[in-house]
Amino acid sequence: MEDCLFCKIIKGEIPCDKVYEDDKVLSFKDINPEAPVHVLTVPKKHISSTNDLKAEDEELVGYIYTVMVKIAKQLGISEKGYRIISNCGEDAGQTVSHIHFHLLGGGKLD
Ligand code: AMP
Ligand code: ZN
Repeated sequence: MEDCLFCKIIKGEIPCDKVYEDDKVLSFKDINPEAPVHVLTVPKKHISSTNDLKAEDEELVGYIYTVMVKIAKQLGISEKGYRIISNCGEDAGQTVSHIHFHLLGGGKLD
């Protein structure tokens, strides 16, 4: 989608610090980390938020979780724990309208 920051990152128009990529998803370091490990995972398909998920996306969301768990293991934070969150809408503080999942860890979280 035009004018979507994360679609531009997916297309390579805006650089990112890539952690993982395949045909379905891209994971990259958050530009403004809120924890020692802060990685965002986005589907390559543009979906604006969790409100816009369709039944056909069920497998994709499950897949994103398995990718994030693998990243947590690779980055060595899975033993001590981590948090996966997705903000939806204004009240939750969603600032980019392309669904994304935050992986936070590497230290005690607030
Ligand atoms: P949210 O507030 O849940 O919508 O999360 C959006 C996240 O995207 C924030 O944590 C931002 O720091 C992050 N972000 C914004 N622009 C970039 C970028 N160019 N590269 C990496 N992360 C970004
Ligand atoms: Zn997008």
